[in-house]
Amino acid sequence: MRQPLVVGNWKMNGRVGEAEELAGAIAAAEIDWEHCGAGICPPFPLIDRVAKAVSDSPVAWGAQNLHAEDAGAFTGEVHGPLLKDLGCTYVIVGHSERREYFGETSEQVAAKFFAAKRNGLVPILCVGETEAERDAGKAESVVREQVQAVVGDGKEDAFRDAVIAYEPVWAIGTGRTATPEQAQEMHALIRGLVKQGHPVTGQSMKILYGGSMKAASAPELMAQEDIDGGLIGGASLKADEFVGILRAAVASDL
Ligand code: PEP
Repeated sequence: MRQPLVVGNWKMNGRVGEAEELAGAIAAAEIDWEHCGAGICPPFPLIDRVAKAVSDSPVAWGAQNLHAEDAGAFTGEVHGPLLKDLGCTYVIVGHSERREYFGETSEQVAAKFFAAKRNGLVPILCVGETEAERDAGKAESVVREQVQAVVGDGKEDAFRDAVIAYEPVWAIGTGRTATPEQAQEMHALIRGLVKQGHPVTGQSMKILYGGSMKAASAPELMAQEDIDGGLIGGASLKADEFVGILRAAVASDL
């Protein structure tokens, strides 16, 4: 019922030539696109190049961040209307690297989330606990707070046309993937939270897993009931790995 989705987060990687080559290789891969959606989120200056490289394929593209305002004196920032002009489908908000290195609070992340929606972009809201929080038994409360910062009073159907990515911080870029059971537990929690306010949205929305997912670990993760694909960092920079993950997503839908 929920078609899987795999999105690459290139982070601050890639030069022009590399980006065109990698995006072109992904777009040209033999994938059964009836059973899987794909997106690439490169650094801002590469968005247009990636868009051109994938234009003859079903691969979508997006950004890794945006400003909460739609225009103004915010030197160095990028606004939602411009991302829309560039044909972006997705924008990642609240990635743990932005929360940690750029001090983004859940309130600021929520403002960016709604800026994305206001501009017709699909926000991919990243949530996830640190290792210390998990060890202290706080994983669920941390993720609940991060989701509820966006839901607010629950009246607005905030997650309609949005995606959530559960990304345990201890699994990002570390080579340590959450076990399928650990991930499923948190995905079920997140889906339950969304369902409380809006049952239909909670049932239909995609919840991606992120954190050292590779082609080898993708099948088991994607076999879990509430895991609808992946947000992929390191492995999205290698065409064969990313394509392997896309194929695992296709297989999980068959
Ligand atoms: C990410 O940064 O969103 C991510 C999941 O990274 P990695 O796959 O490298 O752990």
